[in-house]
Amino acid sequence: MTARIGLLGGTFDPLHVAHLVVADQVLDQLGLDEVRLVVNHRPWQKEGDREITSSARRLEMVAAALAPIEGLAASDVEICLGGLSYTVETLAALEKDEPDTEWLVIVGADAAAGLDTWHQADRLRLEREFVVVNRPGEPDVDPPGWRTRRVEIPSLDVSSTEIRALVAAGRSVRHLVPESVIHRMDEWGLYRRSS
Ligand code: ATP
Ligand code: MG
Repeated sequence: MTARIGLLGGTFDPLHVAHLVVADQVLDQLGLDEVRLVVNHRPWQKEGDREITSSARRLEMVAAALAPIEGLAASDVEICLGGLSYTVETLAALEKDEPDTEWLVIVGADAAAGLDTWHQADRLRLEREFVVVNRPGEPDVDPPGWRTRRVEIPSLDVSSTEIRALVAAGRSVRHLVPESVIHRMDEWGLYRRSS
């Protein structure tokens, strides 16, 4: 039987509660076999804006948080590929390894609005189906020309940007970020103003 697996790509710098809710809601509502959180190696659209935590550390945080959660898993496929991370290449690598799987690409509404800017967008538009979830502050419009399916989730107005700002301000992020992630952030001194 063909497995159906959702892919939620992200920088996860750091992973937060909304990432988990997105993955779980899509898993449940679409009856998928699994959702994989694909940790970007080098998110080319974000580079240059700020210092991004190493992909090895971001992967470790995601893997630690997901270890006890059934149905969700961390993927290192883009880290293994190396270089800049492009969804087109990620999907090709996954299909080579697991040819009998149907892959669905999950994006928040902000990412959906930018699909036309993705690497080899024409190919993705023709070949792929996307799952779009609502995100606070982002309009619910389906990107024209793309095959999309909408999944409504309980809205959570959380972002990694906000988490980093809270940590830099010395404020608590408990329950916004899994405990296992907080442990590693503390251990590594991530997002503190001095780091
Ligand atoms: P940053 O602020 O650093 O961009 P982020 O919170 O947007 O971080 P990403 O790693 O950029 O997290 O996002 C990974 C995926 O998760 C994207 O598809 C994004 O749209 C989605 N996502 C992140 N936060 C939410 C949220 N609160 N609601 C819905 N989708 C979200
Ligand atoms: Mg983002």
